[in-house]
Amino acid sequence: MPNSNQELSFFENVNRNFDRAAQFTSHPKGLLEQIKGCNSVYSFQFPVRTSKGFEVLHGWRVEHSYHKLPVKGGIRYSEMVNEDEVKALAALMTYKCAVVDVPFGGAKGAIKFNPRDYSQMDVELITRRYTSELIRKNYIGPGVDVPAPDYGSSSREMAWIADTYATFNPGKIDALACVTGKPVAEGGVRGRTEATGRGIFYGLREACENSEDMRRLGLTQGLAGKKVIVQGLGNVGYHAAKFCQEAGAVIVALAEYEGAIYNPKGLDVDAVANHRKETGSILGFPGATDITNSRQALELECEILIPAALEEQITKENASRIKAKIIAEGANGPTTADAEEILLQKGVMVIPDMYLNAGGVTVSYFEWLKNLSHVRFGRMDKRFEQSAFDRILRAVEESTGRPFSDFERSRIAKGPDEIDIVNSGLEETMTTAYNQIREILKSNSKIPDLRTAAFLSAINKIATAYIELGIFP
Ligand code: GLU
Repeated sequence: MPNSNQELSFFENVNRNFDRAAQFTSHPKGLLEQIKGCNSVYSFQFPVRTSKGFEVLHGWRVEHSYHKLPVKGGIRYSEMVNEDEVKALAALMTYKCAVVDVPFGGAKGAIKFNPRDYSQMDVELITRRYTSELIRKNYIGPGVDVPAPDYGSSSREMAWIADTYATFNPGKIDALACVTGKPVAEGGVRGRTEATGRGIFYGLREACENSEDMRRLGLTQGLAGKKVIVQGLGNVGYHAAKFCQEAGAVIVALAEYEGAIYNPKGLDVDAVANHRKETGSILGFPGATDITNSRQALELECEILIPAALEEQITKENASRIKAKIIAEGANGPTTADAEEILLQKGVMVIPDMYLNAGGVTVSYFEWLKNLSHVRFGRMDKRFEQSAFDRILRAVEESTGRPFSDFERSRIAKGPDEIDIVNSGLEETMTTAYNQIREILKSNSKIPDLRTAAFLSAINKIATAYIELGIFP
């Protein structure tokens, strides 16, 4: 259903982008239809007795593509959610996983309620009740469908989901792999919380390193010194902003739903996050200018805009006023298809969501692997690698006659911890995928933008899976 701006619905937007890319393939129509549609949509209601009394809540789990199993995707807790949105997000998960070579199909779930209106005990009850509905219909399981956090949910809810699943499946040795994004003590992996933000940073850094692309945008090479606006100071936006700031970018504006703040000299992300925690609002931060209409912050002077809140933030209404040269999509679907046309005409580079925010699901994949192997990354080889490095250092000392200092030795001869392995896997994934997409874009001058190139990459990978499985000739 079209939104209030009479633009396409979210799922229609995703499909329009899909169709634009599909033109560059020679796959049969039936195969493209099979890739595009949602394989299964489970829409249900369930009763709960919360501190407010008896209520009936609406839930969804959409499994978009079974070309690889399990299917994977977060669960959104929001009173604004609707079925079209869950379908769009599930489809994006399929394409996202394909782009970064995470061997899963896509899925998404949602519960229509605002967790902020409920006590922690109520949210736990609702989460467990929702999970039992998924179990009842086989919409959750390590080899079937593996949820994760999304807008409105976090590691806390994932622990409850894992516990509910384990309770219904006593003795199932891989039960913890039924959900990712769990706390580390409950089988989570180090680095998952910041993974989406860190992945955005790696992707953006890779894009800014390409001097040819930067010259075309009238920008200098490198992320350092670039003015950045971030919309959303939740888990994704906060970490993206923080890693960009650490790399030398200047965060000139931060926007949240209650308003935005601007300081052309730069904002300290941690100080702003603390201020918001203490006062309950981003507004009133010392030294910054308040902007009460938060959306206006997207139109301020900057080189990079990172929309990291919700979908449909850059529309045909505000696209022409956006000054950023690079839109780095941290959220899913923040730019409508109509807005993107306007931006592309202005020569703006849009780094698409389905690539740029794939860091979350990438590290979810690592968590799933950890749960199936039942061992922490680095546990088996950390000491071995450490002593191998140490032997090399000693050989160098003997041949040069120069001993290494304790500081040098501890820095060089260090075996990897779990966090080192996770971050290096994430960096490798984001860098490789960016260059794959960029090469597709460069391979054909008719391919208009990175999003089309990313869709093309995904469509071809999924089509290959269907063809090799014999589902399509
Ligand atoms: N909800 C996140 C996303 O949209 C993470 C999904 C996952 O880790 O499965 O990418």
